[in-house]
Amino acid sequence: MKEALLEIINHPKRVLFQEPLANHATFRIGGPADYFVMPENETELVHILEACKMHHVPVIVIGNGSNLLFDDNGFRGCVIQLANHFTGIERIDDRTFYAKAGTTLAKVAAFACEQCLTGLEFASGIPGSVGGGVLMNAGAYGGELSQCVTASDYLDIRALTAGENYIKEYRGEAQKFGYRHSVYQEKDHIILGAYFTLTPEPSREKIAGTMKELNLRRKEKQPLEYPSAGSTFKRPTGDFAGRLIEVSGLKGLRVGDAMVSEKHAGFVINAGHATCAQVLALIDEVQRRVQEDSGILLEPEIKMIKEDDGWNL
Ligand SMILES: Cc1cc2nc3c(=O)[nH]c(=O)nc-3n(C[C@H](O)[C@H](O)[C@H](O)COP(=O)(O)OP(=O)(O)OC[C@H]3O[C@@H](n4cnc5c(N)ncnc54)[C@H](O)[C@@H]3O)c2cc1C
Repeated sequence: MKEALLEIINHPKRVLFQEPLANHATFRIGGPADYFVMPENETELVHILEACKMHHVPVIVIGNGSNLLFDDNGFRGCVIQLANHFTGIERIDDRTFYAKAGTTLAKVAAFACEQCLTGLEFASGIPGSVGGGVLMNAGAYGGELSQCVTASDYLDIRALTAGENYIKEYRGEAQKFGYRHSVYQEKDHIILGAYFTLTPEPSREKIAGTMKELNLRRKEKQPLEYPSAGSTFKRPTGDFAGRLIEVSGLKGLRVGDAMVSEKHAGFVINAGHATCAQVLALIDEVQRRVQEDSGILLEPEIKMIKEDDGWNL
């Protein structure tokens, strides 16, 4: 397997072995992955998948690791990371552009601003990639990607392994966007990129001003000085996870170095050398105490990736 990967990606910095996943997650948590690869294009991606199938190595695809909690034991298989390598943006027409899955949302929002297109300002401070953003239907300050992602294309893993046509596209409602949900959470698909359709806005300064203001608000309210995976829990209907956690008096609650942020109770932060086990124990305790006090069971928004998760091709 090692030799096969080195042959596909002839670049030492883009093929890693026994790579600590903590280096690739904003939470800074996670043991080693057997294989960690960063393809730059579809050809490399397909060859990696074929090698994993041939060598019976399970696969997981990640973006920027900003919504992930990796296992302390790492991952037994091959992690394919698209963020920051599988990148590029192409203007399609006066309102639409296409961005590849590994492009960061910050870069996509900056591109929209430069092109005098409004509608993506909300995304400029979300530390994810297009792939992770579309899968999660990422959103903030009243906006979410569903409002501007008109289509997305993907690699259908099952079709690839069956020898069928494997590059496909979902348009509009077929993407099944909901609150922090999309069709990609239901299927074994690798998102390759997305079409963003926005509204022309002659004043670039106006777009830039909105992005600056929202990012300042983010800095004021969120514990950006600590590693985390963003909001730990989904917003329960009609309320806010942070408010419920605060009302239960859980700000500052710790299990080891995993801690409920003092600045924003909706964030579990890594206050030092937190482990996955500590974060999971803290999440359990927060769920238990909030449910006791309010009757509401908070549902995690962050995605845990266990040692033996992953697609068997
Ligand atoms: C400080 C901070 C602030 C945040 N603020 C927000 C916010 O305001 N709003 C918000 O919605 N989120 C927020 N987040 C969470 C996170 O940034 C988003 O969920 C983001 O969309 C995740 O993107 P990613 O590229 O990092 O995905 P990852 O975390 O790498 O992956 C997330 C999921 O997507 C899957 N995935 C990733 N790429 C692909 C692909 N190409 N094909 C198939 N599956 C894929 C992964 O397997 C995983 O299941 C925040 C996080 C942090 C750390």
